[in-house]
Amino acid sequence: MYAGLLKVRSVCPACGLDLAQVDVGDGLATPVILVLGALLCGLAVWVDSVFSPPWWVHLILWPSIGFPLGLGLMRTGKAALIGLQYRHRWHETEI
Ligand SMILES: [Zn+2]
Repeated sequence: MYAGLLKVRSVCPACGLDLAQVDVGDGLATPVILVLGALLCGLAVWVDSVFSPPWWVHLILWPSIGFPLGLGLMRTGKAALIGLQYRHRWHETEI
């Protein structure tokens, strides 16, 4: 379904569905960034207060957790939005 990390293919390689008409935009990026950022900030404060690691541990730890998690959430959420759009709106415009 994806041609890159977040770029949606124009045609589904499995079933041939035309995905070029589907546009979910970047509407998912804001909630993912806000929720994940708040969660990771809370975890960082907790880890710092409990374990008191050196600053470079934070520098390595949080990006290595945040980037894959954010990408996974974006890919999953985008696929879900495409599925919802296909199910609810796309069919109404078809003749
Ligand atoms: Zn398909």
